[in-house]
Amino acid sequence: RSSAEKFEFQAEVSRLMDIIINSLYSNKDIFLRELISNASDALDKIRFLALTDKEILGEGDNTKLEIMIKLDKEKKILSIRDRGIGMTKEDLIKNLGTIAKSGTSAFVEKMQTGGDLNLIGQFGVGFYSVYLVADYVEVVSKHNDDKQYVWESKADGSFAISEDTWNEPLGRGTEIRLHLRDEAKEYLEEDKLKELVKKYSEFINFPIYLWVTKEVDVEVPSDEEESTDEEESSETTSEEETEEDGTEKKPKTKTVKETTSEWEVLNNVKAIWLRSPKEVTEEEYTKFYHSIAKDFSEEKPLSWSHFTAEGDVEFKAVLFVPPKAPQDLYESYYNSNKSNLKLYVRRVFISDEFDELLPKYLSFLKGLVDSDTLPLNVSREMLQQHSSLKTIKKKLIRKALDMIRRIADEDPDEPSSKEKSDSKEVSEDDEKKGQYTKFWNEFGKSIKLGIIEDAHNRNRLAKLLRFETTQSEGKLTSLDQYISRMKPGQKDIFYITGTSKEQLEKSPFLEKLIKKNFEVIFFTDPVDEYLMQYLMDYEDKKFQNISKEGLKLGKETKLKDLKESFKELTKWWKDALASENVDDVKISNRLENTPCVVVTSKYGWSANMEKIMQSQTL
Ligand code: ADP
Ligand code: MG
Repeated sequence: RSSAEKFEFQAEVSRLMDIIINSLYSNKDIFLRELISNASDALDKIRFLALTDKEILGEGDNTKLEIMIKLDKEKKILSIRDRGIGMTKEDLIKNLGTIAKSGTSAFVEKMQTGGDLNLIGQFGVGFYSVYLVADYVEVVSKHNDDKQYVWESKADGSFAISEDTWNEPLGRGTEIRLHLRDEAKEYLEEDKLKELVKKYSEFINFPIYLWVTKEVDVEVPSDEEESTDEEESSETTSEEETEEDGTEKKPKTKTVKETTSEWEVLNNVKAIWLRSPKEVTEEEYTKFYHSIAKDFSEEKPLSWSHFTAEGDVEFKAVLFVPPKAPQDLYESYYNSNKSNLKLYVRRVFISDEFDELLPKYLSFLKGLVDSDTLPLNVSREMLQQHSSLKTIKKKLIRKALDMIRRIADEDPDEPSSKEKSDSKEVSEDDEKKGQYTKFWNEFGKSIKLGIIEDAHNRNRLAKLLRFETTQSEGKLTSLDQYISRMKPGQKDIFYITGTSKEQLEKSPFLEKLIKKNFEVIFFTDPVDEYLMQYLMDYEDKKFQNISKEGLKLGKETKLKDLKESFKELTKWWKDALASENVDDVKISNRLENTPCVVVTSKYGWSANMEKIMQSQTL
């Protein structure tokens, strides 16, 4: 078209498109859920704006918030249309080609090292998956603030934008037209599309329609003669029955086949969180998790919690523990505030970037909150400061920690669950076996960060801690288990910190305790040093770092005499080492074979902490 303006794709976007178009990836189905998810996002946006400005929806069909899919078998075009917010000319240029999102290069890198294309949506570049199935794509879009435009590209490094003077006016929204490649003809089959929507997009909160063609039986008037003549063949099609005969007194009908087309709705729009948990199946929760988390790994979530909160602040929520932590969970921990919960107010999607819903350490959870108490007609900023949010957050944390504890309680491999092995709570189910270890390996660090950051829930979080000890025989154990094994008269919980269990096992600090059969916890994660500055006690027991002063193993009578008789020596020694930053030289009963050790003062940094601090400042 002569009026079309040409644009080059941004370099990374162009590379991404090359990868997609040349990909041998077999699961090409994913493009549909990406397009439907974009349509749904666009509908969420217009619905949100309509909360404060009713006019924005317009009138007539424009007010219908829906998604429509149509097939043109002859031209081999699949089109997906929504009545969402639409895109202005500038939006089309920016969003579909010239401004690379932060995830673009990360995704390109992943793809080059054999990553899974299925994850495309998580990197914020889902749109480009259309080139898995199409070699030419048109995007027709109408935004309230602009004219209707067409974006088009054959994925050859450039795209074109034209003012749309030839298509039917959309009113508002976007229509994506995929000119399918020959190998992708299966996406022109109605059944295939129905199957895909069912599989990936069932929980979209707007109706998804497919334009279906059906053969239907229709009753048509027939004249008497013919019906007596050909009674048997009345089912067969005879389209040319136009003769009219004025037999009104005895109206006779016959059935013929006719093809008609109509919109068929493909999804069940009733939101899952509004249903009673008893009525929702495990499979439905799993599918809902995949859709809300954009996690299409097909793995089940480790756990979920679906509940209604009542009282001053009413809300419904569904929370999930994902089966895997994203790779960057802790990399971006301190710079990102992004919670992964979606916030709805009375069924209207408000935001998925609300930091106030969950504390940072629980940001690995996925799910949604739908509140009837929060006001609808205020800005996001106002909502962010609403007093109800504090209550919601508090309840969400409590439920989240219960949900995590349940993974342990139901896991037959867990020490804590063995105590209750008589009760029916412990599942016989093999599926639950080893689930808590899996959780711990993926998200254990989050629990530790929680202990550091959330004083209010410290004890609940400490219950979730797992570690190895001198007696755990390579397995993970818990504080409750440790306490149940404490020796009579043992007052403190003993631990030691270091870089690895192997290194710690050689430590002279352990000699005596092992000989006397005291259990000692190994803390080998760098974060453990910080953790233990916050975790002072648990169930009335104090934590004692065995490499620090203050270690008490029981009776100390003999020690008194020894101290007396070595007084001269220790004094001489202390003076001799005064220039070496040694505070004191003491007689101790903590050693067995080693003659002496350097101990840190109670409130000083442990040797391990010194090492960590040094590696950070250098
Ligand atoms: P993401 O959806 O993660 O933002 P996509 O690559 O799927 O990434 O889409 C890129 C952008 O294009 C979207 O953020 C949105 O701004 C725009 N877009 C895509 N599809 C539509 C649509 N149907 N209606 C309005 N905007 C859309
Ligand atoms: Mg998208």
